[in-house]
Amino acid sequence: MKEAKKAVENLLKEVYRDPLSPLAEKQALLARRITMKFNIKQPYELKLLFCKKCKSYSPPVFKKTIRVRKGKLVFTCMVCGSKYRLIFKPKGKANV
Ligand SMILES: [Zn+2]
Repeated sequence: MKEAKKAVENLLKEVYRDPLSPLAEKQALLARRITMKFNIKQPYELKLLFCKKCKSYSPPVFKKTIRVRKGKLVFTCMVCGSKYRLIFKPKGKANV
């Protein structure tokens, strides 16, 4: 369980190093699969990588835009064009 969480964190670190590489997409998918398999909570950084609607891999800035509206983050997916919000809950340190 703890190991799985650590694996996800490490994968995310790799993904954010180079979000546009084909490897990053695979790593993001793998990280998501691990969270589902071990039934652990998806970290915010992982949720950011996928569209809430079409579930496609869409790293922020590159494949989705981020707007701040009334203190809330609004994401626009460039794959399906849908807008959605993800509420950010700070938990001490956040390096997104
Ligand atoms: Zn989408």
